Amino acid sequence: MALKITDACINCGACQIECPNNAIYEGAQNWSFAEGTNLKQVETEDGEILDAHKENEPLDDFIYYIVADKCTECKGFHDEPQCAFVCPADCCVPDENFPETEEELLLKKAWLHEDK
Ligand code: SF4
Repeated sequence: MALKITDACINCGACQIECPNNAIYEGAQNWSFAEGTNLKQVETEDGEILDAHKENEPLDDFIYYIVADKCTECKGFHDEPQCAFVCPADCCVPDENFPETEEELLLKKAWLHEDK
């Protein structure tokens, strides 16, 4: 499952540079699928095709946040989630709202990074 950042975040930014998928953003900053990935387009659940470079609204205005669609638990890159490994506040934790198998996470990693 994807990770999330809890209110215990101290805004140090240590996690952001470690993420191989660029899934972590500073509070109040826009995010995009394309940043740190090879995605050019993204198909939504209802079949709409989006430009992956589209800037999306921040998911939090005050602390760092993780975009679940870009988080793979670091599968395919590292043995453990790097954000959780480096976080001095222990605030990068599994997000129970996004249950995923290891196979699904590896497929997500391939989707994010395969040559398009
Ligand atoms: Fe990024 Fe890995 Fe943390 Fe997910 S677990 S947000 S992929 S560093």
